[in-house]
Amino acid sequence: MLHYSCDVCKRPINLGTDVRHVVKIEVFPAVEDQECGCQDAEGLAADADHLEDMQDLLERLDDGDVTDLDESTRSLRFDLCDACRQRFVKNPLGMKTGKQHDFSNN
Ligand SMILES: [Zn+2]
Repeated sequence: MLHYSCDVCKRPINLGTDVRHVVKIEVFPAVEDQECGCQDAEGLAADADHLEDMQDLLERLDDGDVTDLDESTRSLRFDLCDACRQRFVKNPLGMKTGKQHDFSNN
């Protein structure tokens, strides 16, 4: 029998009584123009150090569901209990609530 625990509050998720929510987060560069890969190649070299971190992360996730990773792309998967799921959907990036600014980088 599989045991899950909430990745946010670490509470065990009892599949008999709780609903397990899965959050998938994908992070990748928004490439508008892929004609030239040279910029990418530079980025890959610079980010090579993160590879080990990523592998470590992958081992911990160990869900078999994380695919297609490269140095600048992450596909993360978390299990959330219902309470944390509600908090997450209200504030996915963990930003301070109360003020709703737009997302401009100013
Ligand atoms: Zn939780």
